[in-house]
Amino acid sequence: MSDLLSVDDAIAQILERFSPLPAEEVTLATSLGRILANDIVAAENIPPFANSSMDGFALRAEDIVLASENNPIQLSLVMDIPAGKSPKKSIKAGQAARIMTGAAIPDGANAVVPVESTDSAWSVGDRISLPGTIRVFRSLKQGDYVRPVGEDIRNGQKILTAGAVIRPAEIGVMASLGCAHVPVTKQPRVAILSTGNELVSVSASLSPGKIRDSNSHALAALVTTAGAIPIHVPRARDRLDDVRKCFRKAIALAPDMIISSAGVSVGAFDVVRTVIDELGSVDFWRINLRPGKPLAFGQVGGIPFFGLPGNPVSAMVTFEVFVRPSLLKMAHRPDNSQVVTARLAEDLTSDGRRSYLRAKLLRENGEWIAHMTGTQSSGALMSMVLADGLMIVPEDVHYLAAGSPVQVRLLRELPY
Ligand code: AMP
Ligand code: MG
Repeated sequence: MSDLLSVDDAIAQILERFSPLPAEEVTLATSLGRILANDIVAAENIPPFANSSMDGFALRAEDIVLASENNPIQLSLVMDIPAGKSPKKSIKAGQAARIMTGAAIPDGANAVVPVESTDSAWSVGDRISLPGTIRVFRSLKQGDYVRPVGEDIRNGQKILTAGAVIRPAEIGVMASLGCAHVPVTKQPRVAILSTGNELVSVSASLSPGKIRDSNSHALAALVTTAGAIPIHVPRARDRLDDVRKCFRKAIALAPDMIISSAGVSVGAFDVVRTVIDELGSVDFWRINLRPGKPLAFGQVGGIPFFGLPGNPVSAMVTFEVFVRPSLLKMAHRPDNSQVVTARLAEDLTSDGRRSYLRAKLLRENGEWIAHMTGTQSSGALMSMVLADGLMIVPEDVHYLAAGSPVQVRLLRELPY
């Protein structure tokens, strides 16, 4: 196995060649799921003014110290403060103001009594004219039902950190601070190529010897799940001029990465090698990996290039192992891939290469049990459909007995 490059060495060498892309600005509305490029520091307080957390009456807590059900205290009502209005008067001893949730606390007041604790019949949405007095049935501490200035966010506070994934909550907080545009990391644009005389498009019917091009679709979907933007380049036949044209088209799109599948093994019709040698500098690696031993990596036309194996499972697995981390690095995106420990359901033999086997995970007695998803042929895409994860068999392992612990990299969320 010594002539094979280890998976970890390959990943390290690949990642060295990628650096983060520059940031860009997008509208707040389109920032969901993007990665924040800069810290966000609040330039305002939230809430910007002290306001009521209830519909009720703003008053001075010291005026109702002795109030109770049996000893209501009467206050005179001096104004109405609907949400959105600034109070015009201040509250003096013995006075109160009717106030809505979210409305500004008037000067002089230091607490709000909820309408339920008064003799007022007023409830949300009512348009009852302001009574002259109210009776209050409970006491309050200063600050009760008042949301102070800056309770949520203080002016000058760092509220979001560069590298954060923008979720609905981040959008809400940026909206409240008036961030109409958001600095985010650029999404890598990835050109995807397929080559092969046997390939026809998804909508075509099959004639003898033909198969549908599934790789370009599965790879485009993988690119999207990595937060990048796939660009399809029309398929090439196994002819030098056709493959050359196809690669030139990809380069002309000025993407951040080019991925091709197939044509990097030593088949008689594999003209991809010739073309990429001509247009760039690419290493053909034999990696200590199953599936997906042949992998081409380098640059064509100055653009980082991956030549993935043609077999559909190998293409997907090598994407997960090598391409996804590269895209994440370019976009400053955190790696959210999850690995769980499971126990093997059955005995397993391996050929000593690092293997990514397709496994279904079933819960038994508080543990995950990893079952192989039938055939592990690198052409059998159903093994990927059925898999909950990729079971990682380390290098130099030739046999694992049923019950052995194994690491499984999840391909979907598990129901816990
Ligand atoms: P190759 O690397 O060209 O020798 O291809 C290896 C295997 O992958 C062959 O069985 C091909 O038919 C298959 N294959 C290559 N490209 C694709 C593709 N785009 N979609 C589905 N299967 C493919
Ligand atoms: Mg081929």
